[in-house]
Amino acid sequence: VAKTVPGARDVPDVGTLKEMIREAGLKGTAGRIAVLKLLHEVRSPVTHAEASARLTGSGMDHATIYRNLTDLTAVGLAVRSDLGDRVWRFELRRGEREHNVKHPHFHCSACGAVACLPENAVTLKATAGGPKALRRKGLAVQVTGTCDDCAAASH
Ligand SMILES: [Zn+2]
Ligand SMILES: [Zn+2]
Repeated sequence: VAKTVPGARDVPDVGTLKEMIREAGLKGTAGRIAVLKLLHEVRSPVTHAEASARLTGSGMDHATIYRNLTDLTAVGLAVRSDLGDRVWRFELRRGEREHNVKHPHFHCSACGAVACLPENAVTLKATAGGPKALRRKGLAVQVTGTCDDCAAASH
């Protein structure tokens, strides 16, 4: 199974998506396939509301979509992040299982746009005598500022 990276716009076919879900230990239901496909299609992490809006007409209600998002997260196909506004956003997991830090996110404080940053965009350094928290796994880094569109609009 080819690894698909967000940013590369390759969306695997249904058979491949189903196989990914099965390999992760879940039944490849139509709902999970639709949600996993959506996560391949989007450019940035999506909220449950955004996922629901995009899956209108799929026959799934909001609760089912949420359950599928959390199922895919539980088995490691997706990750969810709270980017400081207490809203979970879901996206594909990239090959970062082995790293301490998940890839950082940029959050525009003006329009709320969210973008994934490369893993090496932000480096954390655990200094001697500093908090050990920086050495623990599962750290999340968020960068807040003004996105390109908002910066352009203010000129
Ligand atoms: Zn913005
Ligand atoms: Zn991301």
